[in-house]
Amino acid sequence: MIKVQGLSKIYGEHIAVDDISFEVKEGHIYGFLGPNGAGKSTTMNIITGYISPSAGTVEVNGFVMGKDTLKAKKSIGYLPEIPPLYPDMNVKEYLTFVAKIKGVDKDKRAGEIERVMKATDIEDMAGRLIKHLSKGYKQRVGIAQAILGSPKVIILDEPTVGLDPEQIIEVRNLIKSLKGEHTVILSSHILSEISATCDEVLVIANGRMVACDTTENLLKNHKNVKTIKINVKGAKDKIEEVLNNIESLEEVKFIEDKGESCLFEVTCEAAKDVREDISFALSDARLLILEMSEETSSLEDIYLTLVKEADEAYEAELKAIREGADLDEVFADKDEAENEETEDTADTAEETLEESDSDSKEE
Ligand code: ADP
Ligand code: MG
Repeated sequence: MIKVQGLSKIYGEHIAVDDISFEVKEGHIYGFLGPNGAGKSTTMNIITGYISPSAGTVEVNGFVMGKDTLKAKKSIGYLPEIPPLYPDMNVKEYLTFVAKIKGVDKDKRAGEIERVMKATDIEDMAGRLIKHLSKGYKQRVGIAQAILGSPKVIILDEPTVGLDPEQIIEVRNLIKSLKGEHTVILSSHILSEISATCDEVLVIANGRMVACDTTENLLKNHKNVKTIKINVKGAKDKIEEVLNNIESLEEVKFIEDKGESCLFEVTCEAAKDVREDISFALSDARLLILEMSEETSSLEDIYLTLVKEADEAYEAELKAIREGADLDEVFADKDEAENEETEDTADTAEETLEESDSDSKEE
């Protein structure tokens, strides 16, 4: 339904979106997840045809943006970061205005406006001026205008931002109800927001796509580590020695001396059950386990790791450029960004960096 290929957007010297490609299947809900400034809104603005990319192509519902732009745009309902509302219109006037712009047939307009007001639960607000609506209701009007005309694709940029918990649940349910009939992309910088509504998640950091998968697969495929907390009766050194000799453990960390006992934290592969190894080893040494609890790394941990890895890779590239590495080399193989070859010190590269540095500080 949506095909994005090699999308990039460069603002001056700053790369806001860096070579992103993905496909969105019909009827699915996709989530763009990433920290503030990651490039989510820019990507959405390009997909919806609001801004043009520096490179790459977007195809929506079979229409290529920039070629069949009008048809592509007609297939999309969009709620931008700041909803395009007219404060001096009342809700019904505004939706009538949107229906006209979207080319909804005159005899179908009233029915369509009723439908979207019902779907977003704003019927009671029909005659209210938009400027007098609460943030939650404004957001619902924003969603109502996005789904008006029943476009195949609905794109919602941070649809629950600034809403109270009750409103968040309502908006989430509304989004879920769009599934099937519509293909939906929504963005958020909050993981729970994405995992609550989306089938698939696309993680963006520093303008790059660092993961694109179902939440289950992310959990399954990512190097998943389990942490086990063990409280053992006895002396620190003796316990530590025993734990260090257990092969299935990856890391053994002393946490706290509790007087009679010591608290340790050990890690191992999530798929392994090491509880027997631990209890047999400790009991062989006549050490008593008082408590043992395990925690598998959550989606949140995986997300944070992905973003951290992306940040580190980005920083390494910046460092390499700063130290004068050939730009082509740096970007040809991002994994080898630490390459410190200092041939060909390009002044322009350094200038570029200083500028983009000050850009990022402004945020
Ligand atoms: P997100 O929506 O993930 O928070 P954005 O797409 O808004 O991120 O921004 C990505 C990056 O592009 C940021 O560093 C932002 O400062 C920069 N950016 C966005 N729009 C512009 C613009 N019009 N001019 C210059 N830089 C921009
Ligand atoms: Mg944004």
